[in-house]
Order: sequence, then structure tokens, then C-alpha cells
Amino acid sequence: MSGRSHAGAGFRTLRLWLAKARQGTPPVKSFRLYLQAPIATPKRFVTDYSPAELSRLREMFKPQAHRHRNWSRTGYIVIGIAFAFMLLGFVLQNISLHWTQRVILGGFLACWITLMIIAFLFPVPWCPGCHNRIDRGFGAFCPECGARSLERGSWCRAPHCSSCGRAMGRGKSRGYSIHACTHCGVKLDDAGL
Ligand SMILES: [Zn+2]
Ligand SMILES: [Zn+2]
Repeated sequence: MSGRSHAGAGFRTLRLWLAKARQGTPPVKSFRLYLQAPIATPKRFVTDYSPAELSRLREMFKPQAHRHRNWSRTGYIVIGIAFAFMLLGFVLQNISLHWTQRVILGGFLACWITLMIIAFLFPVPWCPGCHNRIDRGFGAFCPECGARSLERGSWCRAPHCSSCGRAMGRGKSRGYSIHACTHCGVKLDDAGL
């Protein structure tokens, strides 16, 4: 009984603490609060550039976007081949030809090593306006729509844009595309990376 009440009290404390943590993270009004040490403070923002300068920055970004897409495509092809080897291994598992198993295992391992190399050398584009990596943290601008309305997240909630409503997940399946630089707001790529 007392164990139960202890658990209940612990749970209430945790809920109160979570509610407090949520209240304690107001929407950030200035991009400066977002910046961590490795992120360079942009000298200029999207509104400080002329249309000609903005289009020049987009042109400068094009080769990086192209390279990023090529590497992504290659990665997906290698993953496809690795799956094909796995499938082949599954289909041929009862065939006792020694060389077949070796070829399948060798092929699968080669794909795995190639994927590790791709992951290690994967070129992450940087913004030609503020020179920050486009995936390094979050600034005041929404990478998806480019509006200056990105609200800071907390440890249990991803940052989200009050303009387009998109939540900024992390990792490979981040759930949003990068069209604009989150730090300076310059629109970089129409299709999104
Ligand atoms: Zn930038
Ligand atoms: Zn947005």
C-alpha cells in the first residue's frame, strides 16, 4: 500500500515537473538564444540581401545540393543491393553450394562497408550566406518554409514552426526538408534536401 502511494507521489511529482518544464520554455523571440558556440552568428539575414544577391547565393548552393543528392542516391542504391543479397541468401539458404554462400556474404559485407564509408564521407552542405552547416542546430528561421517563426523545443518536444506548423525532428527521418538556412533565413533550394 505504502509502495503504491510512494509510486503515486513520484508520478505526480514527475507530472508537475514536466508541466513546469514546458511552461519554462517560452517561444524564443530572438535567434540569439538558439546559438551554441560552434554556430557562427550570421552577419546578415535574408532581409539584408538584395534579390540579386539572394539569387547568387542560391546559385552558389546548387553544386552542394547536387552533390548531396548524388551521394544520397548512391546510398539508397547500395542499401537496395544489400537487401537483394539478403533476399538471395534467404532464398538460397538450403542450397549447399559453398561458393554461392561466400559470394552472397561477401557482397553483403561489401555493401555494408560501402555504406559506412558513405556515411563517414557524406558531404553536408553549408549555407553560402552565413557559412553554417545547414543541419547544425536550429536558428530562428524554419528550414521548411523559411519564415522567422521557429519556436524552440524542449527535451521532450521538437522545435516547431508557428507559421507552417512543421515539427523539426532529428536524425535521418527528421520529417522535414531543408529549403532555407535556419540561421540566416536565406532560401537555398526549392526542392529541399
Ligand atoms: Zn545561412
Ligand atoms: Zn515553417
